[in-house]
Amino acid sequence: MKALAYEGEANVNVVDAPKPSIGGPTEALVRMTLTAVCGSDLHIYHGRIPGCEGCVLGHEFVGVVEEVGSEIRRFKAGDRVVSSFFSSCGHCYYCLRGWFNQCVSKATFGYGKHFGDLGGGQAEYVVVPLADHTLEPIPHDLGDEQAIFVGDILATGFFAAERAEIKPGDTVAVIGAGPVGLMSIMSAQLFGPARVFAIDMVDSRLELAQGLGAVPINAGQTPAVDAVKAATGGFGVDRSIEAVGDLAAIASAIECVRGGGTISTVGVPNHASGDFPYLQMWSKSLTFRSGWCNVQAYMRPLLDLIAAGRLQPDAIISHRMKLEEGKEAYRIFDAREATKIVLTP
Ligand SMILES: [Zn+2]
Ligand SMILES: [Zn+2]
Repeated sequence: MKALAYEGEANVNVVDAPKPSIGGPTEALVRMTLTAVCGSDLHIYHGRIPGCEGCVLGHEFVGVVEEVGSEIRRFKAGDRVVSSFFSSCGHCYYCLRGWFNQCVSKATFGYGKHFGDLGGGQAEYVVVPLADHTLEPIPHDLGDEQAIFVGDILATGFFAAERAEIKPGDTVAVIGAGPVGLMSIMSAQLFGPARVFAIDMVDSRLELAQGLGAVPINAGQTPAVDAVKAATGGFGVDRSIEAVGDLAAIASAIECVRGGGTISTVGVPNHASGDFPYLQMWSKSLTFRSGWCNVQAYMRPLLDLIAAGRLQPDAIISHRMKLEEGKEAYRIFDAREATKIVLTP
């Protein structure tokens, strides 16, 4: 089968890989019909994730079930499905408490040896472990482009907005208007804020943010925290969401919130540790939330919101390409010439 494989820094190639097959009773074989390139794939692309040499990439995909193991109850051959970017069992200590991203059996698709060694979704076929809990059926009236993002970036944006505790009438700042930031803006709007500020340095992303009802602030032209404070009577926003993954963005997310406010961060931090303003957090009574998305809890409600027309995640797709063009897709996505790229087999 055709697949995109990581073969060294900035070196992603279309390869002829063996078609995977089901190895256990809780697995399903899915024929991919649409896959996407994600910002977190770029960590691999830049050689920052050890153990990925030769691995088939990709963790955002939808497809059609081709075959299921003997213990699969929710799916049969022919079902259209969307996958979470990681697997979970549904019955361990963490899953029973609703924290599927902490599942003792979790593994991430296409992220190499140290993340469970699963094949990726940027391929014609992918085996999904613990499929009853990892996959979600796609409603008949939804297309692949509408469904694909509930498995990662839309769920992450919603998770960020929910954990920011946005109340009707609040002001919200979203730091970073890349794919996850745009999904955070879209999700934040569901909670009824008065105003959402979008902070980025790329004009095309800020235009998309504006299209989603956000007030754009170009951090390359004006100090963003000052601009947010000026627009909120000098106090700062009620809630901030950080969707970049670097320490400077997290610092801005803390700086732009008023006393008593909430900061919600979902970007993958680019450093393991750094300075944290303990005294400022304490004196301003701030709430700080951080984490990666608990996807399985959100896929079903998000599909329902999309079907009801209340979310249009496919609006951020800027490029539709073929799997064979994967090398070029990674190049332009890395160069920020594309907002979001989807690939068909
Ligand atoms: Zn992703
Ligand atoms: Zn579990």
